[in-house]
Amino acid sequence: DGERRLDKYDMPVDVSGKGAPGPADGFEAAGLAEAVLRNVARCGYESPTPVQRYAMPIVMAGRDLMACAQTGSGKTAAFCLPVVSGLVAPAGGGNGHGPRDRGSFDRVAAKPRALVLAPTRELAAQINEEAKKFSFQTGLRVVVAYGGTPMFSQLRDLEKGVDLLVATPGRLVDLVERSRISLEAIKYLVMDEADRMLNMGFEPQIRKIVDMMNMPKKSVRQTMLFSATFPPEIQRLATDFLHNYIFVTVGRVGS
Ligand code: ADP
Ligand code: MG
Repeated sequence: DGERRLDKYDMPVDVSGKGAPGPADGFEAAGLAEAVLRNVARCGYESPTPVQRYAMPIVMAGRDLMACAQTGSGKTAAFCLPVVSGLVAPAGGGNGHGPRDRGSFDRVAAKPRALVLAPTRELAAQINEEAKKFSFQTGLRVVVAYGGTPMFSQLRDLEKGVDLLVATPGRLVDLVERSRISLEAIKYLVMDEADRMLNMGFEPQIRKIVDMMNMPKKSVRQTMLFSATFPPEIQRLATDFLHNYIFVTVGRVGS
């Protein structure tokens, strides 16, 4: 059921899974939202990298994805572009976070619709920067939350509303347990550098986060797992968290 072909960048690409949409030759062909396409052009990206060409149509089609590709292959845009596109409100629609009631002492938990988990604060910060560029002039709010730093400014950001949250697992569990974030509205879940997150011992927090999410039914949210390697622990995460997923391998990936 798998197919192996040489990408035009001479990268061996492996795709398996039922009904996988084919690769997109360009960003337009991937069906990204207009505003997102403008932001891609602003970033100076002329054509998608192999993992982007394969992953974008899969995510745009609403499918779960397990993607293995080396560092530097452009994974951040591969998930950020279609997720931001999916979050962009249709013309005339709101973005789900109206002005907050500033006079009230009742705090309402922020309800992001997309969550990107990353292993370190540096990575979370990078993804946040990139997601902000891709959502420029869309009205979407991107917020980052990581540990090792006071919570105060992150809480202030969250109180203004959040569509896409980038977080490290430990800090996120903390914020959810303090009722500052609710995960019930999550439609998109991305785990970036999943192998590193497991190597750093985050598996309990990751499982807790997924347990706290909207529905026990994994078929309702769309989940994407990105990893440089594909050891048995990652295969187990894929089996547990992904639903009817497509598996894409770009380049040579060790286990
Ligand atoms: P990975 O997460 O796979 O390690 P990144 O997403 O961090 O890779 O991307 C690596 C670098 O390539 C970044 O500097 C990013 O801005 C750049 N990049 C990503 N996609 C493209 C593209 N289509 N065209 C040009 N540069 C790109
Ligand atoms: Mg990356």
